[in-house]
Amino acid sequence: MKIFFKTYGCQMNVHDTEVMKGLLVNSGHTIVTELKTADLVVINTCAVRGKSENKVYSLIGRLKKGGYKVGITGCVAQAMSNKLKNYDVEFIIGTRAITSIIKAVEGTKKIDLEDHICEVNATTPALRRQKKHAWVNIIAGCDKFCTYCIVPYTRGRELSRPLEDIVDEVKSLASQGYNQVTFLGQNVDSYGKDMDNTSLAKLLEISQRIEGIERFWFLTSYPSDVTTKLIDTVAKYPKLSKNFHIPAQSGSNRILKKMNRRYSRSEYLELVNEIRSKVEGSTIGGDIIVGFPTETDEDFEETLSLVKAARYIRLNVAPYSPRFGTVASKFYPDDVPYEVKKIRIAKLASLQHDIEKSLNEKSVGQEVEIMIEGNSAGRSYGRTIDNRMVFVNDKIPEGEILKVRLTAFKSGTLYGQIRKVSVFAK
Ligand code: SF4
Repeated sequence: MKIFFKTYGCQMNVHDTEVMKGLLVNSGHTIVTELKTADLVVINTCAVRGKSENKVYSLIGRLKKGGYKVGITGCVAQAMSNKLKNYDVEFIIGTRAITSIIKAVEGTKKIDLEDHICEVNATTPALRRQKKHAWVNIIAGCDKFCTYCIVPYTRGRELSRPLEDIVDEVKSLASQGYNQVTFLGQNVDSYGKDMDNTSLAKLLEISQRIEGIERFWFLTSYPSDVTTKLIDTVAKYPKLSKNFHIPAQSGSNRILKKMNRRYSRSEYLELVNEIRSKVEGSTIGGDIIVGFPTETDEDFEETLSLVKAARYIRLNVAPYSPRFGTVASKFYPDDVPYEVKKIRIAKLASLQHDIEKSLNEKSVGQEVEIMIEGNSAGRSYGRTIDNRMVFVNDKIPEGEILKVRLTAFKSGTLYGQIRKVSVFAK
């Protein structure tokens, strides 16, 4: 069968699509990149916001009008299966049942919302989007239950993959020519908590010894789960990314409590300081939710001051929107007007723009190493170990590591001049 995938949402979803594609290709099916050539369309869905969920229903409608067969996977499939049953879809496959995709496509499984995520292991095929950079899920689910978040309901409770299995996958990726790996989890620092003597720090320490893989990334960190051991490990080994993505979500202790985030503003900023003081050349990324129920101007001022102190290299800002089934949607009226949310988003964007400008302008003149991730309009772009994208005026193959002198920061983009090719990709 010829199958077209449409994927929404986070990196976990993107990687689930890679695994489903790999399983299908292994069973003799074909993945197509042109919709009009498809026999079936799989929509791998995201439910993190109402907007992303609604996109799924309208896409189903348009595809059905065009005469396509449609199958649904991902977070909307898991959380909204009752609603989806009213739509004319071929199958509904939940987030932890992705190995059922073959049966679903072949018509022998209509609905699977069970948990057999442990069937995904180092031997599971994956059709990866990039040739040199592979994403590897190391932990499924989340136990944190932040009051605004639907993830614990759509992706279930935390379950870590066996360390040996992950290491086997990384070794296999190295033998296939990959030289960059990102370890993924909704809360990646929880990795190993459900096992004996296992942690993200230990996994990174063992993995960085694997020959052929030059860089390791890990996403996304939960502030109070980032351990001193993890920070020390990152500081010690040059192959480990010096960027920590640690969503604060708010700078107000009152709002953090209402969100059920398990840290205070001062604990968060202490963590940022610990990372900065121990990990040379580190950068911090963050996420903020604006307009959480009852957020006052004073609460928002606290968020602005936290952002000033954290000095993020990158910041994602989203307006609060209630998600069906969460504690916040049940008990906290969405009482901050959208106009107010928009003003607060604009203030944060302007502050962040200034911070990024000053951090990046300061780095002009420095020599850094970048790993090439792609080409566009005759130029190549690559990432520094602290997660900044740099453009160079030459066409270089993906995966090569270059020494570059940063020459300018213009309109939000860093530019560099190649000094030397330090490592050639295999
Ligand atoms: S840590 Fe909170 S925001 Fe992140 S996935 Fe878990 S519940 Fe959602």
